[in-house]
This record gives sequence, structure tokens and C-alpha cells, in this order.
Amino acid sequence: MDSIVVAKFGGSSLASAEQFKKVKNIVLEDARRRYIVPSAPGKRNSKDYKITDLFYLCHTHVDHGIAFDDVFSIIEQRYKEIVKEIGVSMDIDSHLKEVKKKIAEGTTADYAASRGEYLNGLILADYLNYEFVDAADVIKFDKSGCFDSEKTKEAIKSKLSKIEKAVIPGFYGAMEDGRIKTFTRGGSDITGSIIARDVEADLYENWTDVSGFLMADPRIVENPKPIEKITYKELRELAYMGATVLHEEAVFPAREGGIPINIKNTNAPQDKGTIIINDVDFEDGNSTITGIAGKKNFTVISIEKAYMNAEIGFGRKLLSILETYGVAFEHMPSGIDTICLVVEDAQLEQKLDKILDEIKRQCNPDSVQVIPNMALIATVGRKMAKTVGVSEKVFSALAKNNVNIRMIDQGSSEINIIIGVETEDFEKAINSIYKVFNS
Ligand code: ASP
Repeated sequence: MDSIVVAKFGGSSLASAEQFKKVKNIVLEDARRRYIVPSAPGKRNSKDYKITDLFYLCHTHVDHGIAFDDVFSIIEQRYKEIVKEIGVSMDIDSHLKEVKKKIAEGTTADYAASRGEYLNGLILADYLNYEFVDAADVIKFDKSGCFDSEKTKEAIKSKLSKIEKAVIPGFYGAMEDGRIKTFTRGGSDITGSIIARDVEADLYENWTDVSGFLMADPRIVENPKPIEKITYKELRELAYMGATVLHEEAVFPAREGGIPINIKNTNAPQDKGTIIINDVDFEDGNSTITGIAGKKNFTVISIEKAYMNAEIGFGRKLLSILETYGVAFEHMPSGIDTICLVVEDAQLEQKLDKILDEIKRQCNPDSVQVIPNMALIATVGRKMAKTVGVSEKVFSALAKNNVNIRMIDQGSSEINIIIGVETEDFEKAINSIYKVFNS
């Protein structure tokens, strides 16, 4: 069987006629790119609007009984401009009219939002001369609005096996009764991944406006190196820590199907981008670490009690207090007589004092200390487990730069060292770690 590539193009890749032209060149350059998943037009510059946001806004206007013509005319203008400039023959006016009428009659927010992808899909299909397949026919949600993987698989297999080349809009699908349902924001990534799995693609390309993942946030580290290859596990660790490019849930279907994901840049298609795969050869990749990411706004509750190690039920009591107050913890590093709970600040709002009182009452500790303003930094790398001296390198780089480490946690997967530092040291710490592995 010929190989199949599913290519998803994000909002910035389809924000204007100029971007549409780039997308066409990319698609036509490789005949394996048979199934194309577009997002709605995104921002053309930092002051611009995302079409999806405008569709939500239209719905809110209708919901409050306010005229939405002005907002809708911005949407109309954008699509008309694209259609005119790329020179497709489709009748965009009648589609816009139909969508406007439905929104005016009072549809759901999901329906309104999904029209961004729907209209963009129609235009792109015409432009590429590919068949248009409505996502409502192939992406299925159950009665309660949960994604139905089995029904979707059946629908995709039966529909797309008969179609050589198709454009399928991202972000939405339909429930059993035909009502439109969307994924969470940024969900076209998920659609692409599902289609890649169900057509048994050889590759899922995710085209965006950056050349893949970088080893660190470019707002913190100057000119960080790109990551050429990353495993799903590493990506999960970095994404959890705030590195974003791909919707987190988009990883699962492709991973399940054993399909590599290639993050590519529509504005620089010659760049290799980042390949996300299950396993990477140990020798593959240039650096000992794969990436560094971090998050601010954590509080550490540090509890000390002599002979804690021998006290049965101590951990259970502690965690049940968090459970009672509906608080989730991120990490729980422990020593012989100490245990730390690392909790996001937002979780503790109005609850911290009560939780501390409960800990004192139920656990009878020798001391409880609260360390606010903590930032967590994860240094992630599949080579870590087999390389001697990685943590030593991290710690000495931080010491040399006068960063005080307040907490250390190495995940049991051994592909990750998490350290807690004071918020004011966050940027300095990330830079120090990056430099020590890249000089
Ligand atoms: N257009 C949708 C959003 O803005 C989905 C996507 O772009 O992936 O969230």
C-alpha cells in the first residue's frame, strides 16, 4: 500500500491568502499528503482576531439578544478576501449566509465555533482540488458529548477508504443526534491525530508557525536549539511543565497507532522540525538532555516529624486532608523524617490555613513550614537514566550562578529531574541549566 501522510495546518498557517498559497505548495509537493486537516484562520499579526474567537462572540451576542452583524462582518470580510485572492470559484457568500442564519436562529456555541474550520475546509478543498469531507460525518461523540473512538474509527475507515484525497476540517465532530460538538480549544491537533490513526498513516504532520520544539522557552533563553527527536514520554513531561506547541491530547491517538508526529513550520518548510516517536536510539540526538521547561506559582508545604518513616498511616492522613479540601498535589518528595507537598497556588486559595490546621491536628508533626513563591523547573532527557553525572551538572550549574535549590524531585521514570527554586531565580536557573549542557 502507498504510504499516507495526514497533514494538519494550524490557524496561523491558514490566516490569509498568502498563507493558503504556502499550504498549497507544501501539500502538492508530496503526493503522500492525502488527508488534510485545517484549523480556522488564526491571527495574521499580534493585533488581529482569531476567527474562532469571533464565532464564539457571535454566539454570545445572540445569547444576550444583541445584534451580531458587526462581528459577523469581520468574519465575512476575512473569508471573502481569502477566496478572492487565491482565486477559487466556490460560492462563499451563500455558505456565509447560511451560517449567519443558523447562528441568528440560536445554535449552540459549539456549532458557531465549528464553522471557522468548516468554512476554511470548504475553501481549502476547492483550492487543492481535494474532496471535502465534513468532520460531522466522521468524528463521532456519544450522547454525553464524550469522544467515541470506536464509532469514529468505523466512520473514518468506511468513508476515507474510498476517497483518495480529502480535506477534513479540524476541531469538531457530531453527536449521535447530529448536534455539532467541538474538542477543547486548539482541538484540530486532535482531529489530525485521530485521522492519522484511523487511516493508518505513516506520518502525522502538524504544520504550525514554529520549527518544532525548542530546548527551552525562547523568551527565557536566547536562541535555544531545536529538538530534532523527542519521545512521547519526554514530550509529556515538557508539555506538563508548560512547553506548548501541540494540544496535549493530540498525542494519544497517534501514539496508539504507532504513528510518528512531525511538527513542521509552514513558513520554513525546509526546516526539519521535531519528530515525536515512541523510542529513539540512545545514540540519536545531540545533547544529554532533551529540553528544559518550568512553571511558576507553586507553594511547598514541608512537614517534619521524627520517626515519620516508621509511622504507619502518616502519608494516608496527610493526603486525605488534601482530598477533603479538594486539593490536588503536583509532587511529593520525601526524606526520612520529612515530606513536602508541592501544590499549585490556585489550588490553595482560601484553603491553606485550614489545611495547615488540619495537618497539625491530625498528623501531629514537629514542624510545618510553608514556602511560597516557588517555581518548578524540569530538566528532561531520555539519556539521563544511562548517563552518569547529569544531576551533578544541573546542581553545580545552579550553585555557580547562586541559585538556591529549595526542592529536588527525580521522577521514577528517570528521564526527568525537577527542582524547586524561588520565583525570582526562575529565568536565571533555566539559563544556567541550558548553558551547562550546550556549551
Ligand atoms: N480553531 C480552534 C481554536 O481556535 C481549534 C484549533 O485551532 O485547533 O481553538
